[in-house]
Amino acid sequence: MNRLEIDEGLRFPQYAQALDFTQLTRDYPPPPEFFRSVYRMPRGNLDRLREKRFLALVQRGWEIPFFRRRWKAAGLEPGDIRSLKDITKIPPYTVHDTRKSIEEFPPFGDFMGITVGGDNPLPLVLHTSGGTTGMPRPMLYTPQDRETMAILGARRYAMQGMRPGDKVLAALSLGLSNGGFALRDTIWKYIGAIPVMTGGGNTTATRRQVEIMKTWGIDIICSFPAYVRHLAITARDEMKIDPHSLGVRAVHSHIGIEDRSKIEALWNAPCYDMYGTNESGMMACECTQQDGMHIMEDAVILEVADPETGAILPEGQKGTIYITTLYRWGAPSIRFNVNDISALRPAGCACGSSFGRLDKIFGRNDNMVKLRGANVFPEAIGVTVAEDARSNGEFFCVVERIGESQTDEMTVMVEVLDPQADGAAVKADLERRLKEVIGVRVTVAAVGRGELDPHTGTSQTSKIKRLLDKRK
Ligand SMILES: [Zn+2]
Repeated sequence: MNRLEIDEGLRFPQYAQALDFTQLTRDYPPPPEFFRSVYRMPRGNLDRLREKRFLALVQRGWEIPFFRRRWKAAGLEPGDIRSLKDITKIPPYTVHDTRKSIEEFPPFGDFMGITVGGDNPLPLVLHTSGGTTGMPRPMLYTPQDRETMAILGARRYAMQGMRPGDKVLAALSLGLSNGGFALRDTIWKYIGAIPVMTGGGNTTATRRQVEIMKTWGIDIICSFPAYVRHLAITARDEMKIDPHSLGVRAVHSHIGIEDRSKIEALWNAPCYDMYGTNESGMMACECTQQDGMHIMEDAVILEVADPETGAILPEGQKGTIYITTLYRWGAPSIRFNVNDISALRPAGCACGSSFGRLDKIFGRNDNMVKLRGANVFPEAIGVTVAEDARSNGEFFCVVERIGESQTDEMTVMVEVLDPQADGAAVKADLERRLKEVIGVRVTVAAVGRGELDPHTGTSQTSKIKRLLDKRK
């Protein structure tokens, strides 16, 4: 047994001394300074700033074994990358490469340039990504990474109207993933709003969340679309509380291709979109114009590439997103092919920002399923289901091989609000509509309200499941 001994030479880190906070906010201005600086920075200045940061990041990349190994294998030498234009010479990587790195160099892989422990320890925190199959992927955050992420998040909330003193319902996961914690760091430290950390429905029951909203006068909801809808419908139908009477001023979510007008009607409040990942935090978000997502171009580079050839696509063409985090020192992403589908849009928003814009996220590749040769995104099915007023938008897809011929079949189960509704009509209408939208035939089964919750987990968690692929 080890006994505790106080070693005179032992060093513990102190968060306040782990970072030059004044320099940090000069480099990455939080609101309101953000709006007076980079948000409207002339394009030429912004490009010079990006290039300077990019070249420093490449130097940093050479120090990290994962990048060094891959770049050498691609024939690159230090000094070969001389400008932002050279970015396409750097080989992209995917989640498969980071998984392999974790297998070869357990427990955290060699893609993070961070020393754990040692003589001069840093305060670190670990969150994870993915995890639909196998172990979730760990990501360590240094103070510099974490604080910059918080500042970028604060820019988003400020752009979307959050203000000091707002009481914010944080109905996001409080487990291994970054969700709720990143929100807490962000708005507590850099907005002066008050995070009310209810978490998902498994942390605080949905009815209790509604009671909290009413009693404490919650101003703003931060959650994912399915739970934002579930909250409103629970208040309206089960608690007989009109969601409009709760006076919510805004809903911050990630909408993708979902129909925001449904959510806005339920709450009588604008609902805003954003793009972020667990690893890289918030990277692009709408302003109140709701006209494309402004990319935080002083902090990240987002490229859109052809999923087959890797060729960089011009504005307007859909492809897979490559992420480069200019701001991250500990564990940067440098051309991480995250496999989310979107397109770039030019700058020129009515708000006057110089930042280029990202279109909505059309699908997240983790969810994509091959069905008889077609690429099907459950998100696209969700949009069609939500358009049908007889449903509450809740759905669950099962894919399996059926019969002697072993054909791939998908069944989409859909919750119908009214028990008296004609299930056969819902089935026929949605089967026809889904064929038009996703291009392949699927079977629809109408089920009662709440029946899918054990499969999807909508009332419980932010890791909502929409798909069970029995072929795997
Ligand atoms: Zn704008």
